[in-house]
Amino acid sequence: MYTYNPKSMDPNEFINDAEIKETLAYADAHKNDMALINEILEKARPVREGNGCHCRGLSHREASVLLACEDPQVLERIYQIAEEIKLAIYGNRIVLFAPLYLSNYCVNGCVYCPYHLKNKHIARKKLTQDEVREEVIALQDMGHKRLAIEAGEDPKNNPIEYILECINTIYSIKHKNGAIRRVNVNIAATTVENYKKLKDAGIGTYILFQETYHKESYLKLHPTGPKHDYDYHTTAHDRAMEAGIDDVGLGVLFGLELYRYEFAGLLMHAEHLEAVHGVGPHTISVPRVKPADDIDPEEFNNSISDEMFAKITACIRLAVPYTGIIISTRETEATRSKLLRLGVSQVSGGSRTSVGGYAGYTPDERPHDTEQFDVSDQRSLDEVVRWLMENGHIPSFCTACYREGRTGDRFMSLCKSGQILNCCHPNALMTLTEYLVDYASPETKEIGFRMVEEELKKIPRDRVREIAREHIEAIKASNARDFRF
Ligand code: SAM
Repeated sequence: MYTYNPKSMDPNEFINDAEIKETLAYADAHKNDMALINEILEKARPVREGNGCHCRGLSHREASVLLACEDPQVLERIYQIAEEIKLAIYGNRIVLFAPLYLSNYCVNGCVYCPYHLKNKHIARKKLTQDEVREEVIALQDMGHKRLAIEAGEDPKNNPIEYILECINTIYSIKHKNGAIRRVNVNIAATTVENYKKLKDAGIGTYILFQETYHKESYLKLHPTGPKHDYDYHTTAHDRAMEAGIDDVGLGVLFGLELYRYEFAGLLMHAEHLEAVHGVGPHTISVPRVKPADDIDPEEFNNSISDEMFAKITACIRLAVPYTGIIISTRETEATRSKLLRLGVSQVSGGSRTSVGGYAGYTPDERPHDTEQFDVSDQRSLDEVVRWLMENGHIPSFCTACYREGRTGDRFMSLCKSGQILNCCHPNALMTLTEYLVDYASPETKEIGFRMVEEELKKIPRDRVREIAREHIEAIKASNARDFRF
């Protein structure tokens, strides 16, 4: 029998099955306890502190009570507070990124993923360095500055040296005014030594999805290959942090197991990182299982409705206010629109999930042969940028924080000190201007320049506003780029 202990390094103790089951029973017992629910909602609200703001977050038990509550008025308040937190901490900025698939060779047997070893229909492909270059140029020409690299797990075809070489190539390419300034990495669990190498290569966030926190299901869903090792997979973020990577990303693949179990497990994982390393996860991703080659999502009978998906996202926002929430193009424009109001802070745009899916294709052509899953939001980056602005969000291509060493818990200090509007906000506007000048369509430019003008006025410090304006004028008038606070 394992005992729940968030500080333990044993995943059976920090993601403790008995604790999750007790949490769910507690949530059921209290889901109509309005006094408790009001107390939890009050705790979640952002509190103004001087010029800044502070959020206390919620424990996995508190957040699970909210998730279990079926009262429509409570749901409205959850949504309202999620939006308040989003605006208080992140403002109206939304960070943009794109995935870059390096290789779909994989030795694992994940039953929901088309890259699984036994899938003989799928074409296998691994990018050469020349192909990486072509993909990166295509991504730069779209306007991207931030990538998440993706690869199957295959020590022979995709060893760490290959991943490192690709990262070097990506950072080295300066095409026209383009540059990839932050490479996040989504590769299989590995050793402290390899995480150190990734850290030295200058990666942004190390992202690894748990897929499911339900150990028994995990073992069945990952029947073969190194990923079968639940304990090794679940402690990967600890090893990454031990290796000095401050920013790590968590995620659950919703649809595989019962969502309430996953929700509690995910928050317990965040609490564990905070308890052991003093920093919670930098991001949480909320993917849902999608149809793919050899994969029928109907086989996973735990799919969640759009309504429940929105509620889960909002409850995550209340529980971990300083953690970015990522929503990918797995979701439709309509779902993404709704979730952007409920706390999401990062979205992908113009994504291709096949290996070599960007270079040489027109915006309407989508190669499917090496694809991981079908994306629902197939709009171009320009369309996504315009849509964000039409809905009042500032599309941000900012990568300043990690390049200025503001990783780990330093973002929280920035929020508390009230400096977000003097720092992140101008950075978002300057990178948006870069995008508008270098890549946007005339229609997007028109909306964008108007937005930049309006948003500049919101910068509180006169000197910062003046400098931001000067930089914006320089971006418009010359090839000077990459200004940041
Ligand atoms: N191979 C690495 C690993 O095992 O963690 C990470 C890369 S994999 C390309 C990225 C993520 O895609 C996986 O963690 C999984 O959650 C997600 N994924 C796999 N199959 C999927 C599907 N059919 N629908 C949606 N997401 C899927």
